[in-house]
Amino acid sequence: MTDVLVIGGGVAGLTASIFTARAGLDTLVVSHGESILKRNSHLENVPGFPAGVNARLFLELTREQAERNGVSFREGRVSDLSSGEEGLLVRVEGADSEETLSTEYAIAASWSDSDYLDDIEEVGLTKRGSKVYVDIDDFGRTGLDGLYAAGRIAEKAHQTVVCAGHGSEVALTLIDDSDVPFYHDWVAPEGYFTERGREVPPGCEEITEEERREREAASREVMREAFAEPHPEEPTQHPSVVAAREEDEG
Ligand SMILES: Cc1cc2nc3c(=O)[nH]c(=O)nc-3n(C[C@H](O)[C@H](O)[C@H](O)COP(=O)(O)OP(=O)(O)OC[C@H]3O[C@@H](n4cnc5c(N)ncnc54)[C@H](O)[C@@H]3O)c2cc1C
Repeated sequence: MTDVLVIGGGVAGLTASIFTARAGLDTLVVSHGESILKRNSHLENVPGFPAGVNARLFLELTREQAERNGVSFREGRVSDLSSGEEGLLVRVEGADSEETLSTEYAIAASWSDSDYLDDIEEVGLTKRGSKVYVDIDDFGRTGLDGLYAAGRIAEKAHQTVVCAGHGSEVALTLIDDSDVPFYHDWVAPEGYFTERGREVPPGCEEITEEERREREAASREVMREAFAEPHPEEPTQHPSVVAAREEDEG
């Protein structure tokens, strides 16, 4: 049984998983298919990248960040979710297997698939045109105990930073609802709290100058390697454009 199972390894799901794992919750991301961000040509409105960034590289780096923080991953499509005796049961269809995983909490971050929630009375779904959104309260909780929703599927604006921010907000709600004595996920210089006679609050860390330099060196190395070469993958084209082009080519 995991503490947190995140459905969807896109922008919102990956960001949520980083926060829950860093709070010490055992976190598994189950994902199938690709983030819609893979269709982007060049990502120019995410803070921290003055000349923009390749969206596929951005997703890879975010996933690497999740892995470095202890998140586990499983490839598979979630096809059903229900309440069990202790927590939630999540049906996962793999390439040639099916299994049911149990988890205390789940975060639906699976834009644009909510089919696995269709039969749950407590979960409100709102249809607008061809799109279906999961109803949440102001903090990301659905009507089903233990189930949260984040990102575009929760009808947040169709922007990367908004969906990432919502992923973190929903994760903080979940952490707050759990037994974790969470404060802020902060890394501070040595003495910041303790030299004022205060304990380092839960969720916070004080690090020495030596440790800070080591972490900075590691981050520079990761980024140097990531940006050394152009990313090999091209943007994913809209399926209807691909179909029309194929038809034109006869
Ligand atoms: C052409 C295009 C260009 C864009 N350009 C920009 C831009 O320049 N700037 C910007 O801010 N935003 C841009 N966006 C929007 C941005 O991509 C989305 O707002 C963002 O990706 C939404 O994040 P999300 O996590 O909600 O969904 P996603 O990132 O799509 O993640 C959902 C994940 O869930 C997985 N999944 C779905 N169903 C299941 C299931 N049943 N089981 C398991 N996994 C499942 C999917 O495969 C996917 O990995 C663009 C979008 C498009 C289409």
